[in-house]
Amino acid sequence: MNNKKVSISNQKYYLMSNKEYLTQKLINNIEEITENWIEAIIEDKLIASSNKLKSASIEDHIPQLLAAIFRVFAGIDKLKTNNSDKNQGGKHGFARAIQDFNIEEIAREYYLLKKILFQRLQPELLASSPLEIIDAVATLNQVIDKMMANSFQSYTQKKLSQLENLHHQLLLTNQELIRLIEDHQDSLSYLTHEIKTPLTSIIGYSDLFLRQQQIKPVNNTINNLGHIEQVLTQGRKILRLVNDTLEISSYSKGTIKLTPRSVNICKLLDSVVVSLKSAVEVKGLDLVVGCTPEPLQIQTDSLRLQQIISNLVINAIRYTKTGTIKVFCEQIKGNYLKIVVSDTGIGISQVDCQRIFDPYFRVAQPDSCTITEGIGLGLAIVAQLVQLLDGEIQLESEIGVGSTFTVVLPIA
Ligand code: ADP
Repeated sequence: MNNKKVSISNQKYYLMSNKEYLTQKLINNIEEITENWIEAIIEDKLIASSNKLKSASIEDHIPQLLAAIFRVFAGIDKLKTNNSDKNQGGKHGFARAIQDFNIEEIAREYYLLKKILFQRLQPELLASSPLEIIDAVATLNQVIDKMMANSFQSYTQKKLSQLENLHHQLLLTNQELIRLIEDHQDSLSYLTHEIKTPLTSIIGYSDLFLRQQQIKPVNNTINNLGHIEQVLTQGRKILRLVNDTLEISSYSKGTIKLTPRSVNICKLLDSVVVSLKSAVEVKGLDLVVGCTPEPLQIQTDSLRLQQIISNLVINAIRYTKTGTIKVFCEQIKGNYLKIVVSDTGIGISQVDCQRIFDPYFRVAQPDSCTITEGIGLGLAIVAQLVQLLDGEIQLESEIGVGSTFTVVLPIA
């Protein structure tokens, strides 16, 4: 074969070098070469990472990479070679890093490419002079090796940044785990403390009752009745604490099953209000209740919904000294039920608002002895139930002004 070839373009004749001629062969067949390479990558047993990918994602940037290799091989457009063409190798390594290839698999891809290209050029190479063959083979090897080196470089960079991200995530997870363990320990010591106080009372009053019975065995003295009442009150507190703790833990385990049925919300609201009316009256508070439209019939788990509303209203009563408590249920746009419970009570600071739905969290009150009934689980239960019913809960509050809890639940 002559060192120069003749080509025809727009009726003109011009000469091209052997490498230019081989490049033209490659460029003319780029689609077929791409196909062959993708097929070889998919079928190659040593490139297992390709098994989980679609051929489109394996191919993705391949035509551009091949075009760049061919251009560099021809030695044309040297300036471009140093920039965007060179970057094609980098892009390949980057893509394969994201696709979770390992470095041997990338090397194997380039090995397969060499095989395909030399096979494709075989007839032209056989017709070339020995010097031309040596030059073409050496250049093509060199170009592909260079692309492979660029791929390795960007692959390593990407993997390093993935590792850094992972490291960062692990640090965050670790911090979260430490926080959870600490919370758990806090909850446990809180629970133990909360159980210890009423238990001490129960034992103390029972002891007193027994001793009084031994000294003066009368059945129904006023004193004894008072002691029994104390034992009952403290016993109930422990029972509530244990029940609420069990309930919270069953939510976290995801073992709660909903029982949806058609519920008249206005009636449900009335029954909650009736059960809490005496507590409102004892404190001399005003209670305003509203429900629209009437009747408001929806499909939901009535027991859970009742629990949400009554926990919020119980708190509103508990943390309000004077003023009004308002409870409204309303069907709103987009088929949602909106429940608003507001009070003119002591309010909650912005800092405490962030932890208010955490189990066992209680706001430290300046006159802590005035509000002792709570155990810090009411709102945690509300939050879990709202989540269970696919809804959202929001709190707006201002110290000394009052609090408004808004729950929005999908009706369907
Ligand atoms: P608790 O049984 O202590 O009331 P909750 O989980 O129901 O537990 O509430 C957690 C804390 O949030 C309470 O201890 C109280 O400090 C605060 N809180 C809840 N509701 C209100 C409210 N309506 N107004 C002011 N503070 C509230």
